[in-house]
Amino acid sequence: MSNFVFPPAEIPSAAVRGTDARYAVSRIFCVGRNYADHAREMGADPTREPPFYFTKPATALVSSVAPAGATVPYPTETRNYHYEMELVLAIGAPVFKVRPEAAVAAIWGYAAGLDMTRRDLQAAAKAAGKPWDTAKGFDQSAILGDIVRVGDIGRLDKGAITLSVNGVEKQRGDLADMIWNQAEIVSNLSHLYHLHPGDLIYTGTPAGVGAVVAGDVLVGRIEGLGEITLTVGPAE
Ligand code: MN
Repeated sequence: MSNFVFPPAEIPSAAVRGTDARYAVSRIFCVGRNYADHAREMGADPTREPPFYFTKPATALVSSVAPAGATVPYPTETRNYHYEMELVLAIGAPVFKVRPEAAVAAIWGYAAGLDMTRRDLQAAAKAAGKPWDTAKGFDQSAILGDIVRVGDIGRLDKGAITLSVNGVEKQRGDLADMIWNQAEIVSNLSHLYHLHPGDLIYTGTPAGVGAVVAGDVLVGRIEGLGEITLTVGPAE
């Protein structure tokens, strides 16, 4: 194809551990409030809420392969830039309107991810009943470690998920504590969208979210999967 008026943007992609291949990213779905202790810290009642979603554009993706990781600038228009450490599902097969038992087979890989958030803009949007896009879907807000194939490590239904900032632990949860488990999330999303390979799903964060500033180094770990590292650079 040579008739584009501008060159097409580069296809966002993530490393696949142990190979030279890359996973081309199409869409990024995020589950809101999927751990009860985090739902409570955000002022919500975890017992009454069906799953809900927001999205980030694929262009927000930043590949962060440990140990060096990535550096992103402190974003514009916020004074409360938060981390949310999450397990990310990488879809590897088309699925549409499937039950949880069938949905799990579409999960091709896992990665550690950081759902970076302008918390002050999110709070203002919530209060005004406005969309979350500028709080959640801004440039370089979807940090992703390398993708590990389920075929290589098996299912990650339980195990510690933690995040430290400058060596001090801030978040600790267990994958088994998700309100909506992986199969239920993929099944539920498949009734709202035709899911395809290239779709990522950030599955929510445990309690302990907080602010970071320029110079901070974030290290997230998921038992059985690995690490993600992110350094916050100076403001743009
Ligand atoms: Mn999140």
